[in-house]
Amino acid sequence: MVPLVGAMDHPRPLNQVRVAIMDDPHVNAASAGGGEFYVTTGLLQKANDDQLRGVLAHELAHDDLGHVATAQALGAGLGIGVIILDQLFPGSGQITPVAGALIARGYSRQEEYEADRHGVELLRRTGYSRESMIQTLTWLLRTEVSIGGGFLATHPGTQERIEALEKL
Ligand SMILES: [Zn+2]
Repeated sequence: MVPLVGAMDHPRPLNQVRVAIMDDPHVNAASAGGGEFYVTTGLLQKANDDQLRGVLAHELAHDDLGHVATAQALGAGLGIGVIILDQLFPGSGQITPVAGALIARGYSRQEEYEADRHGVELLRRTGYSRESMIQTLTWLLRTEVSIGGGFLATHPGTQERIEALEKL
């Protein structure tokens, strides 16, 4: 995640980036504004490194583009269990999930298209291809169809977004 933050149009100082991990089986992530992000344990458990990178690129793109979200961690204050992004990746042994569910307002489709495009740009700047975002969205679509209530609920129009990316 650190290289992606550095690749932003408006890179945030790393000490201002905070990631809260929600103890939530749904696969989801959100940008809460102000350099604060949420990811779920469902995402960390089910995503491989490429998929996690794709999701984070998308969320960082929302932040970079100034999309206003009202993501909230229900039943938990942001001060509790928040970790810095260096500790985010699975296997670090440092993860202490916050109890509660991730509640996020859905973005508009327009914002989703923009975040996908800009997310691809962030991936490219850090040495990854557009394919990586397409595969991430395809994986989300496959995973979420069986679970529901997660990323697809707050990030509409995934199938159309995949098609838009394929035309880039
Ligand atoms: Zn989004």
